Amino acid sequence: MTTIILKPRKEESVLRFHPWVFSGAIARIVLDATHRAAEPEEGELVCVQSADGRVLGAGHWQVGSIAVRLLAFGDERISGSEDEWISALLRKRIAAAYRMRQRLGLLREDNNTYRLIHGEGDMLPGLVVDVYGNTAVVQAHSVGMHRCRKAIAEAIVEEVKEVDAVYYKSDDTLPFKAEISEPKVGYLVERLKLNVERSSKVESGEFWSVENGLSFRIDWLRGQKTGFFIDQRENRALVERYAAGKDVLNMFCYTGGFSLYALRGRAKSVHSVDVSQKAIDLVNANVERNFPNCPNHKAVTADAFDYLSEQRAQGHQYDLIILDPPAFAKHRDAVKNALRGYQRINAKAIEMIRPGGILFTFSCSQAVDKEAFRLAVFSAAAQTGRKVRILHQLHQPQDHPINIYHPEGEYLKGLVLYVE
Ligand code: SAH
Repeated sequence: MTTIILKPRKEESVLRFHPWVFSGAIARIVLDATHRAAEPEEGELVCVQSADGRVLGAGHWQVGSIAVRLLAFGDERISGSEDEWISALLRKRIAAAYRMRQRLGLLREDNNTYRLIHGEGDMLPGLVVDVYGNTAVVQAHSVGMHRCRKAIAEAIVEEVKEVDAVYYKSDDTLPFKAEISEPKVGYLVERLKLNVERSSKVESGEFWSVENGLSFRIDWLRGQKTGFFIDQRENRALVERYAAGKDVLNMFCYTGGFSLYALRGRAKSVHSVDVSQKAIDLVNANVERNFPNCPNHKAVTADAFDYLSEQRAQGHQYDLIILDPPAFAKHRDAVKNALRGYQRINAKAIEMIRPGGILFTFSCSQAVDKEAFRLAVFSAAAQTGRKVRILHQLHQPQDHPINIYHPEGEYLKGLVLYVE
């Protein structure tokens, strides 16, 4: 195996279990005999050593400033063949993650939707697995995880007893420039294909999953990400608590998650807005399934900024608004513009809230931290001149854990505001 030797003192963060080795920390690379090129291959398993020769761990090599994403630290040394080692490690990590979700009470009759693996938060950097009933949807964010996809699928069906189908969906998540063997999408575990009835339901978009007693149509074949945004589950439940008797506006609604909870919470009216027609079709299907012939829900296909401006011009107001936009900043260099975007959309929303109303506002941009987001919302509030107080500070839920040694894993932030 190739060995990555760090510069003196650069082992400190690895000894504190930080799962990334930056390229600047590397003193030299000792390639194993199989290499012809001067560099390790992207995605290959490498061993990391300190300058004085201590084995620190093993992980996947990556091209870029994060050079190694560590899967194991010193105490889990490499033994046996690489394939045996990675299979055993994946099984151990997946079993531990599953046990944790069970202990947290996420697997219930009225809830079979949860994130099983959240990258660094479950000590498997580069891997995301979402579970919808008996199907797991796998996303690889690194070439290393792409290479292990078969072993990942086998470990999931062995360790997670409800799951008998694993779908791989990494066309949008794998590093852009990497040379990657196909396919990047498709079933990894074939058993679903044998189950003709279920498989045709998926093909026709009639697969339903349950979150806190509400049914959602999940379409991992055509939907965004793995098909659903599980990370807002607890925040949706909080909306349910505030919804009674209110006129609710759910902006950037996608599948209508927040709308369904608001309807169950006896909202007076719920308007769901998204720019994508596919999302609006999903919201309508989800509302119809849970609240047939619902008279007080309306879904609108529109750009959020335009919609808010138009509604404002018509003097329309709401008691509760939810703003859950897509990541405005996907990279560090986009942060400034993103903050302007957050300020603009929040100011528009605050202006449209009736006195004594509530705003749920979120950012899922990893590059925008809690303080910066709060400052953008502060600027928005100041711009409107309304009196605003913070009622709750929200974040990602328990099945999206943050490894305490890897604070970069915190990405979802939310504020619940009381607008006088
Ligand atoms: N709140 C959702 C997740 C939102 S994801 C949930 O609970 O599941 C972000 C959504 O914003 C996507 O559905 C995307 O189609 C939509 N979107 C992106 N840009 C938009 C825009 N300018 N106006 C309205 N919707 C937009």
